[in-house]
Amino acid sequence: MVQDPEITELRRMIEEAQRIVFFTGAGISTESGIPDFRSPGGIWTRMRPIDFSEFLRSDEARRETWRRRFATDETMRRAEPNRGHRAVATLINRGKAAAVITQNIDGLHQASGVPANKVIELHGNTTYAHCLDCAQRYELAEIRVSFERSGEAPNCDKCGGYVKTATISFGQAMPAAAMIRAEEETLAADLFISVGSSLVVYPAAGFPEMAARNDTRLVILNREPTGLDPYADLVLHREIGVTLGEAVGNN
Ligand code: NAD
Ligand code: ZN
Repeated sequence: MVQDPEITELRRMIEEAQRIVFFTGAGISTESGIPDFRSPGGIWTRMRPIDFSEFLRSDEARRETWRRRFATDETMRRAEPNRGHRAVATLINRGKAAAVITQNIDGLHQASGVPANKVIELHGNTTYAHCLDCAQRYELAEIRVSFERSGEAPNCDKCGGYVKTATISFGQAMPAAAMIRAEEETLAADLFISVGSSLVVYPAAGFPEMAARNDTRLVILNREPTGLDPYADLVLHREIGVTLGEAVGNN
């Protein structure tokens, strides 16, 4: 069989590496049926994001946030990890990759078998909610029942604070511990692989940039070009699942 030279090169870089760090964006989950933001037809061609100050300021913005969340609930709950997630999990579980830094909020890396302590979530997680004041955790199913009954956004039973999915909105502070760990992992890596991110959302996109500045080998796998392509050692404008699956040798 004739080997595809780009896949051969990616496989060789993976074999030579001792400590891979993955950096993932919405593109790794589109093959699981979750739309990304910036592809044609992506979420933002249809809705304006609600930023954090609006959420705090306005009852209507809080209701709208919860309406949107429940409108996508079926898609989120049905989504299963795909071949791209499985390839990442394989390299983590072989000890080849140390961590996955993700902008995704869908929990699919954990669902694919990556231990939770190796998933660094920069933008939080939308599969559960918490109180913004006391951090009490809430499950979405229970919130949904009360939201559909009362039509009001939920408040915390313990302290009355606003309850929000455990995600980081625009305008909300980044999670400090995750940011520190992401930096440590980036600087310790000898191969940094960015998968399915347009690399335009900061500070997240600062990590592949940091890898490039640190002379760490950088691979960018994304259907469309990104601003960091000129700094990468290997750029693959390809579909994620089949590319990672073939490079890692699994289904
Ligand atoms: P983005 O939408 O800006 O970019 C996704 C990129 O992935 C695009 O450039 C697109 O060309 C590429 N892509 C999509 N499907 C692909 C495939 N099958 N193969 C190859 N490339 C593919 O996403 P981003 O950079 O992650 O930034 C968006 C923000 O949106 C993040 O902060 C994230 O928190 C949030 N988000 C998360 C999810 C999720 O959790 N699944 C979904 C949508 C948005
Ligand atoms: Zn509370």
